[in-house]
Amino acid sequence: MHETTPHSPLVVPRSEHRISRANISENALKVLYRLKNAGYQAYLVGGGVRDLLLGREPKDFDVATDATPEQVRRVFRNCRLIGRRFRLAHVYFGREIVEVATFRGGGYDEDAVGERHIHKGMIVRDNLYGTREEDALRRDFSVNGLYYNIADFSVIDYAGGLEDLQAGRLRLIGNDPEKRYREDPVRMLRVVRFACKLGFNIDPSCERPLFELGHLLRDVPPARLFEEVLKLLQTGLGLCTFEKLRHYRLFAQLFPATDEWLDHEDHNFPITFVSRGLENTDRRIREAKPVTPAFLFAVLLWEPVRRRFAQLLAGDVAANEAMLVAAGDAFARQQPLVAIPRRFVLPMREIWSLQPRLERHAGKRPYRLLTHPRFRAAYDFLLLRTEAGEVDSALADWWTRFQAANDQVRAEMIGETTKTRRRRPVAGKKTTGT
Ligand code: ATP
Ligand code: MG
Repeated sequence: MHETTPHSPLVVPRSEHRISRANISENALKVLYRLKNAGYQAYLVGGGVRDLLLGREPKDFDVATDATPEQVRRVFRNCRLIGRRFRLAHVYFGREIVEVATFRGGGYDEDAVGERHIHKGMIVRDNLYGTREEDALRRDFSVNGLYYNIADFSVIDYAGGLEDLQAGRLRLIGNDPEKRYREDPVRMLRVVRFACKLGFNIDPSCERPLFELGHLLRDVPPARLFEEVLKLLQTGLGLCTFEKLRHYRLFAQLFPATDEWLDHEDHNFPITFVSRGLENTDRRIREAKPVTPAFLFAVLLWEPVRRRFAQLLAGDVAANEAMLVAAGDAFARQQPLVAIPRRFVLPMREIWSLQPRLERHAGKRPYRLLTHPRFRAAYDFLLLRTEAGEVDSALADWWTRFQAANDQVRAEMIGETTKTRRRRPVAGKKTTGT
């Protein structure tokens, strides 16, 4: 493994790496040069450097500097400081934001000086700003700890990141991975995300603790976990990430009610249902179609909801009431773990409660349902249930035809169903056949 001693990072000159300014956004370059010309150090850091070295297009560009946030603000007019304790500067260029962070202190060493306290589930210290080295060593993975220096276009590596990049390996910085996960349990989710995104292997020393430390996610604020879950499951790699989360038993920490049923899957459902839903989302993202967290979370929680719904129906609770209660139960269990913002909760309830309503398509009902603002999402949801083998495909086919049909055909279809109408409970036995 690459040896790094304090104060002696590996410095790779421009001629020996592939990062070219041509691949860095014009605005990020402006920020880097402006800081440099004002007499400060300025580096491209984090995922941007990693992705450039891999020949990938970075999602965004982050900058690190020795200038304090106030000094950064004096350099840029189009700049706003955010954050309370640790302040970041956002430099605005129309839609693009370049984030500028002052070197952060605190290091990874538990024994480092500075008072520690818990902030948003992370252990942080009070020595806020630090040196470039400290800034590098408090980062999560070695491949995320590389610096591109605008002063001489070199790449600076304190933690063996270049070697790990070469090897396709994710390794936490420092020599005590467990400690690093304890400092911030979200790193367990990040390692899974990067493994899928980069196609890298997780170093065995960083992989082993994943099986043991999942419970630490319970200490992370639910709102932060919601953001992380979106990054995990709604950025085009949902299926891969889901499978890895299951493998490391981390999924159970995020969605325990769903996970319980995944372990008891019958006829390959519900695992198929969740997988298909994620695959669907991944495809939509690839095709640059819009995706909504409401649909994603409706998929993720459907299994416990439909089970509870069926149970209530069997106890003679009316369908509307049963769905309300089933959804309420699911949220009551889920929200303390991964907090789904209110604006997604109502659409989720609607997608679910439309499911049994789609099964009754006699009389004027189908016309009313078509105008429901959540009809399209509910129909897509029904297609997914059909693909996963939960419901007979005749129902989805009926709705597909009904939407495409003209008035006359629609009238005939409704007449037809009035005669052959048959109720099929949402959580009824799986029907095979076509
Ligand atoms: P992405 O391509 O998903 O943006 P990224 O590596 O840029 O990947 P960010 O979440 O944008 O990830 O974070 C930027 C950088 O900040 C990371 O590369 C890493 O150096 C550091 N970082 C982010 N989160 C953590 C964390 N939880 N612990 C330590 N360092 C972190
Ligand atoms: Mg980033």
